[in-house]
Amino acid sequence: MRIDKYLAHAGVGSRKEVKKFIKDKRVTLNGTFVRSDKVHITDGDVVCVDGEEVRYQEYVYYMLNKPAGYVSATEDNFDPTVMELIDDYHKDLFPVGRLDKDTEGLLLITNDGQLAHRLLSPKHHVDKTYYALIDGIVDQSDIEAFDDGIELDEFKTKPAGLKILAVKDGQSEIEVTIQEGKFHQVKRMFIARGKKVQYLQRIAMGPLVLDSKLPLKGYRPLTDDEMNSLM
Ligand code: URA
Repeated sequence: MRIDKYLAHAGVGSRKEVKKFIKDKRVTLNGTFVRSDKVHITDGDVVCVDGEEVRYQEYVYYMLNKPAGYVSATEDNFDPTVMELIDDYHKDLFPVGRLDKDTEGLLLITNDGQLAHRLLSPKHHVDKTYYALIDGIVDQSDIEAFDDGIELDEFKTKPAGLKILAVKDGQSEIEVTIQEGKFHQVKRMFIARGKKVQYLQRIAMGPLVLDSKLPLKGYRPLTDDEMNSLM
């Protein structure tokens, strides 16, 4: 791979910025200053920028705390996409699955298609847990109905775990764990019970738990433990 492409992929800067780094003699290859951006590198080569080694990872994995107002897509003609929140030069990143535009919380961003396929495949049953604020009083009958599975238009959901956190002023705070990830699933499950989701936030997906230190719009690479839990 050409060194300028390698550095850009590694997130050091845009192709243009990286070429300038090379021109400014800030880049070394195996200890020697690189004079041309056309130099090719291979496995085992050590590339440094300003003396710091730059490692290229083929796959990247970010946990994003998605804010409302962004669509879970790589492109959209009308709305900002979650990809606009990621300051990375990997052009092939994408969100794993979808959260509605008004839903907040945990979204995995990667360029690892195989992992994404595995996490989204119905065969693998990756549970998703949401915190929600519901208009209406959620009670034991809702817990039982969710546990039986809720009949939606095209299918009946698998048993869903519903927990009531608080009930106040005609609204309920709940946590719900669903086994599938169908379009508007949580909202539709509550509509089927005559209640409306006012606010929805994903707090976990399989073994991944939303990092409470991540502000809305914030993202960070997955830790080694998180990576291992997914593999
Ligand atoms: N269920 C929904 O209704 N919306 C989401 O964004 C995710 C799950």
